[in-house]
Amino acid sequence: MTPPLRMLLIDDNRSDRALVLRELQREFDLLEVKEITSSGELNRAIAAGSFDAVVTDFQLRWATGLDVLEMVKQRYPGCPVVMFTNTGTEEVAVEAMKLGLDDYILKEPNRYIRVPIAVRNALERRETQQRAALLEIRLQGLLNQVKIGIFRSNAEGALIEANRAFLELLGVQSLADADALNWFDLRDSYKQLMRLPPPQQQEQEVSLQKRNGNPFWALLTTTLNTVEEVSVVDGLLEDISDRKQAEVNLQQLNATLETRVQARTAELQAANRDLEEFAYSISHDLGAPLRAIQGYAQILLEDLSETLDANSAATLQRIVANVQHLNALITDLLTYSRLKRTEIHLKPVDLSSVLADVVAQLGSDPQQQQAQVHVDEPLPTVRANRLMLTQVVLNLLVNAVKFVAEGVQPQVRVWAEERVGAEEGSTVRLYVEDNGIGIASDRQQQIFSPFTRLHGEAEYPGTGVGLAIVRKGVERMGGQVGVESQPGQGSRFWVELPGVRP
Ligand code: ADP
Repeated sequence: MTPPLRMLLIDDNRSDRALVLRELQREFDLLEVKEITSSGELNRAIAAGSFDAVVTDFQLRWATGLDVLEMVKQRYPGCPVVMFTNTGTEEVAVEAMKLGLDDYILKEPNRYIRVPIAVRNALERRETQQRAALLEIRLQGLLNQVKIGIFRSNAEGALIEANRAFLELLGVQSLADADALNWFDLRDSYKQLMRLPPPQQQEQEVSLQKRNGNPFWALLTTTLNTVEEVSVVDGLLEDISDRKQAEVNLQQLNATLETRVQARTAELQAANRDLEEFAYSISHDLGAPLRAIQGYAQILLEDLSETLDANSAATLQRIVANVQHLNALITDLLTYSRLKRTEIHLKPVDLSSVLADVVAQLGSDPQQQQAQVHVDEPLPTVRANRLMLTQVVLNLLVNAVKFVAEGVQPQVRVWAEERVGAEEGSTVRLYVEDNGIGIASDRQQQIFSPFTRLHGEAEYPGTGVGLAIVRKGVERMGGQVGVESQPGQGSRFWVELPGVRP
């Protein structure tokens, strides 16, 4: 509920009071009026202070309206005071206004109506002023809380106002200190801003110095504004030293990054080479003792064939088989690591002759003789290393013949397809398709990694290195490998190599 408007009505004349009161009651629904007719009453009322506005006559027997005005404004500067009189002169009015009088009304019959309007206006003005004052306090509070320096200077570059952060940034106590420091040429900024199109604003990163001599980087934003027809420069000053330092660090880091990467790569390459050489020499050195073991086991088997019991003979057979497997593994590993180490030279290689070699090699293996290999001639020429390519194709054909279901005659088809690329020139895809057991799609990528086998040694013997050799070899010749297959439906392996333009 809104509280009533509490007023002091000061007039010696009862009928005038009644007239004013009637007008006030018409204007304000909730009204508490205290009528004052002596200085004692006035003193008590001012001491009690429970009123929101004052209406006073100028001509009183015990004082003048100016005295009343002074007394009220002294204690309550914001309290509205309206004076009405039939005796006052213009000078009195001016004097009264200077003392803070809110309105002045002549006491004439048709003017009483103006008193409540004057009171209402004065009350509203006071409320607006109070709100503005509150806003100002809040604004000042905010300006003092922000970490960004905020300032305003005149056209001559002298500071007019600034917040606390601004002074703290420069390490000074007052605007005068900041001006004395010559922290920045704001007059020059003003001239530059004058030449800019709207919004006349400028942002620059500047290196400044605090009063104690410490340097710092700041982002300075200046804007040309007009306040009450006077041009001012409004500015923001933000400490960006941390960001600047980070930028410098980054630049230094970038400058050294390239050399560090090179050094690190060289270290890694050296470590890799060491490792490869180590693996190579181990594989190489293992070969001779393995062959010896195999030889001795073989001798034992032959020499003691008469006297050996079945168990011992089977054990010796297992030794021979294991050593053979190890031997094959070492041979494959040596091939694989040689692939990575040897320098290769690419030349045009006729695929037909490579296939002829490979098929001949296959045919010399009694286990693979019943396989049927069909090559779609003629095959094109590719850019490759002949030895490497022969090894790749041999491994693919050996697998194609090997991974068939029991009792099925291996049937292999080989053909090639030329592909004309837009940018990288033409390539040749060589396909090796079999009627074998196929490969599940989720395993098709893994089988190109060394030692990945999808079957046991008893089912399909092998080392798990064959396809790794295929991939490494093809990659070294600048090509790609892949497979399309479904379990039980056969497999179609392909290698793609750069073609040779006729
Ligand atoms: P290996 O033949 O010595 O086992 P590879 O690296 O040549 O080793 O092949 C890896 C695995 O990929 C094989 O063990 C087999 O499971 C599968 N694989 C390779 N070629 C075929 C093929 N043509 N058909 C079905 N599976 C194959």
